[in-house]
Parts: sequence; C-alpha cells; structure tokens
Amino acid sequence: MNDFNWTCPHCERAVTISEGRVTIRQHSLVIKNAIGRRTLRSEFIVCPNPDCQQFTLKTELYKSAEGHYEDRLLAKVEEWRLVPNSKAKVFPTYIPQAILADYKEASLIRDLSPKASATLARRCLQGIIRDYWGVKPGRLVDEIDDIKPRVDPLTWDAIDAVRKLGNIGAHMEKDINIIIDVDPEEAELLIGLIETVLREWYVAREERRVRMGTIVAAATAKKTP
Ligand SMILES: [Zn+2]
Repeated sequence: MNDFNWTCPHCERAVTISEGRVTIRQHSLVIKNAIGRRTLRSEFIVCPNPDCQQFTLKTELYKSAEGHYEDRLLAKVEEWRLVPNSKAKVFPTYIPQAILADYKEASLIRDLSPKASATLARRCLQGIIRDYWGVKPGRLVDEIDDIKPRVDPLTWDAIDAVRKLGNIGAHMEKDINIIIDVDPEEAELLIGLIETVLREWYVAREERRVRMGTIVAAATAKKTP
C-alpha cells in the first residue's frame, strides 16, 4: 500500500496515512442466495496525530467474484461510515448545543432524505445567525440581509450563492419549517455552508480570544517587576 493523504474527521488535521495505520479485511457471502455473491470490506484507519489517535471505521458492500487468494471486488453496492457515523465534522463544544445537534442530524440524513436534511440545515443556519449576530427574529431571508454589512465579503458571497440555489432559493422567503424538495447536492451545499460559517465565526472568534489572552498575559507578566 502506498502512503496517502487524508483528513481526519475527528481532529480535522490533514495527515499522511502509512501502512501501519490502516487495516482492511474482506468477508464474502458464499452461501447461494437470491441476490448473488457479495463481499463486505471493512477498513479501520488510525489518525497519526499524537493529540488525536482516534480511529475511523468504514464498511463497503461489493458485488464480487471468486478469486485466487480472496474474492475480486466488482462494483460497490453500498457504503456505511460507522465511526464517526456520518460525514458530520466534529466542532468544539463552545458552539451552542442546539446548533450542533441540528447540524449533526442534517449531515446524518443528508443522503437518506435530502429534503429533511435541508429543512434542518436552514433551521440551523437561522439559529447561527440569531445567536452569533443577535439579529431580530424574522424571516430567514430578512435576517440574512440584516447581517450583510457586518459579514466578511467572501463569506457573504458563499451565503448569497447558496440561498439563491434552485429550490432553496425559490422558497427562501417562506417559513423555514416548510419542507421543500431538494436534491442531495443542494443539501450538501447547505451543510457545507453551515460548516464554513461555524469555522469563520465561532471557531475564529474563539481562536482570536485565546491569542489575545496570551498576548495580554505575556504583557502583564513583563510589566510586573
Ligand atoms: Zn485525528
């Protein structure tokens, strides 16, 4: 196996995975059945970041054919990410719990039900805008307009692009709890937008607070004789 680049879903660090960090096994269904030969492939990866060392577990089901040493994998039929159990990124706990819960659930059901996922994602986005910017509660579309002068222009462009997208855009002015039909890509873009603003707003603010605190502490220490 060649080394490969990988981003750990637990610590979000870009790392290189070498042979000793991955273990893969196959289990074939060789009993005669109505569907045909299938092979389950499971893969553990352990994060090499010393501060993390968490593992991920993914399983994939393949159409397969008998091979020499082990079965040959033909087409992938399904894939399950078991640990962590969705593509949801892990965000720090200083972000309000209700926001993180909506975000996680929206990620979890993204492929299963894009429209339910998009509904949760819009509610999550509204929760973020109200909590972080303290806007007067109203329609999501007005709340977004309200924060425009205060938001970094690049972040604003991302918000504006996603809110104008297909059916999401067509129903933006309606109540966020109305379920609208969206495809999985639209749901994914909404989730991506939420991840961006969580990072740009909450995480950046916290990192800045810690940095400033360090400078103040160092300056104070120097002043004291
Ligand atoms: Zn990690």
